[in-house]
Amino acid sequence: DKLSVAIDGPAGAGKSTVAKQVANRLNLVYIDTGAMYRAVTLKALRGEVDLDRQEELTGLARQSRIDLVGATPQRVFLDGEDVTEEIRTPEVSRSVSLVAMVPGVREVLVEQQRRLAEETGVVMDGRDIGTVVLPRAQAKFFLTASAEERARRRAKELMDKGYTIDITALTEEIRERDQLDSNRTVSPLVPAGDAIIIDSSGMTVEEVVHRIVAEIKQ
Ligand code: C5P
Repeated sequence: DKLSVAIDGPAGAGKSTVAKQVANRLNLVYIDTGAMYRAVTLKALRGEVDLDRQEELTGLARQSRIDLVGATPQRVFLDGEDVTEEIRTPEVSRSVSLVAMVPGVREVLVEQQRRLAEETGVVMDGRDIGTVVLPRAQAKFFLTASAEERARRRAKELMDKGYTIDITALTEEIRERDQLDSNRTVSPLVPAGDAIIIDSSGMTVEEVVHRIVAEIKQ
């Protein structure tokens, strides 16, 4: 089997930053599965599809071609169009958990994610990688941090990209998304039984990366 590393956890725990660096160190391909759910969400918003129309959303997912290119930054293409920036807007962030609740959408995307992991060694960043997508991954990590810390990190990330931030609204958005992701019936956000749980509050990125790489090399 190809080496695969699962990194799951709630929004803003630092998964993508950490996962990219781990992939770099170990010469693996970084896969941002959240970007795939965001791309389908963007397509639904553009097409004015009601977010409770499960069959339509599943159809959209099936008809979407999503390509993840490169690592830093990873560019995201939807049907050939570069949507890297557009999938991070507050509008998409507010809607993505509703799209991600649809079983059919998950089926389509999970199948694509598994295929990617068959082609090459991966570090996959998401919510259900260790539990559902790659239950046989050689290494699984569940990255968390306090809600305040996560909101602070997300705010910094967005401000660095030039967005103006309302920290209260952002904290609320993250909390709501975690709530939806944790309580949904399909693939809820929970650590895999064999995942190593890392609370990154008060840790630097470098410390978290080091910890993960050391664990994988054992
Ligand atoms: O990782 P990111 O915050 O960009 O993910 C956006 C949303 O996509 C999550 O809040 C969650 O609803 C959904 N998601 C998921 N399963 C994954 C990755 C993301 O349900 N593996």
